[in-house]
Amino acid sequence: MKASAGGYVRATDLGHALELLRQADGMGRVLAGGQSLVAAMNMRLTTGDMLVDISRLSDLSGVTEDGDTLRIGALTRHVEVGSDPLIAAHVPLLADAVRYIAHAAIRNRGTIGGAAAHADPAAEFPACLVALDARLEATGPDGTRTIPAEAFFTDVFETSLRDGEILTAITVPKAASGERHVIEEVARRSGDYALAGLCLVKRAGGHRLALFSVGPTPILATSAMEKLDAGDLDGAVAALAEEIDPPSDTQASAAYRRHLAGVLLRRAAAKLQGDAP
Ligand SMILES: Cc1cc2nc3c(=O)[nH]c(=O)nc-3n(C[C@H](O)[C@H](O)[C@H](O)COP(=O)(O)OP(=O)(O)OC[C@H]3O[C@@H](n4cnc5c(N)ncnc54)[C@H](O)[C@@H]3O)c2cc1C
Repeated sequence: MKASAGGYVRATDLGHALELLRQADGMGRVLAGGQSLVAAMNMRLTTGDMLVDISRLSDLSGVTEDGDTLRIGALTRHVEVGSDPLIAAHVPLLADAVRYIAHAAIRNRGTIGGAAAHADPAAEFPACLVALDARLEATGPDGTRTIPAEAFFTDVFETSLRDGEILTAITVPKAASGERHVIEEVARRSGDYALAGLCLVKRAGGHRLALFSVGPTPILATSAMEKLDAGDLDGAVAALAEEIDPPSDTQASAAYRRHLAGVLLRRAAAKLQGDAP
């Protein structure tokens, strides 16, 4: 039977969820942890959708090793990302990011796949995934495909997920020996979304720097990365100011966000050098 708009169905497996989305004919909305979607519904920012609840699909949860990568199920909750021993050992950036995300109640329900699919430009995980050069796995009516994080986030709350697709897992490279990860942000209060933030990864092959809350998507700061690779921190801060175009809003001006980005880069670089706590 074709599901009616405004309904709710709990999917029993991935195939069932995909079929429910197909039946909903464009009106289906995937419900994972509900920490962003339900808030949007309460604020009447989204209405009339057919909710396809995937939260009980245990196959989409958990962390496994796969050679030199970790595979993180889309339904792995923030609190699990923060406490998982494989993530702590091999991708510390993600574990460190969790302490900046919202509050305990939200971290207990919110999922890493939900955070990626929601694509809030101020969220921590999307920028982490870009900095780590992660791959996102999506399954839909046409099968399964893998999307590089840089291509996944396309605009404010927009991703390259197609209609009827479900994000199933995220694959991240394990840190090689000597690799360092740092996340830094400034927020008005603990648990608030950041006014500006960044993720810095130092690999043998060079630096990767991704910023959040300074543009419509996570920003991979390639000019600043080149300067960091050359050991020119002042040049990297100057390059970063040129390559981001932050918004002004009620929280902060564009100029303040640009200033914060430079301050955060200096802090992160000091941490990489071991000069800062
Ligand atoms: C008060 C408050 C403060 C917050 N502060 C922060 C913060 O500081 N930093 C931060 O990063 N986040 C913050 N969040 C958001 C929180 O991290 C959410 O958990 C997260 O953004 C969404 O995850 P979810 O599993 O709850 O997704 P849901 O709310 O269930 O879904 C969010 C969106 O993603 C889609 N979706 C979810 N899962 C999938 C999937 N597997 N495949 C396809 N589409 C999917 C849904 O259809 C929906 O459009 C905050 C939320 C609240 C309410």
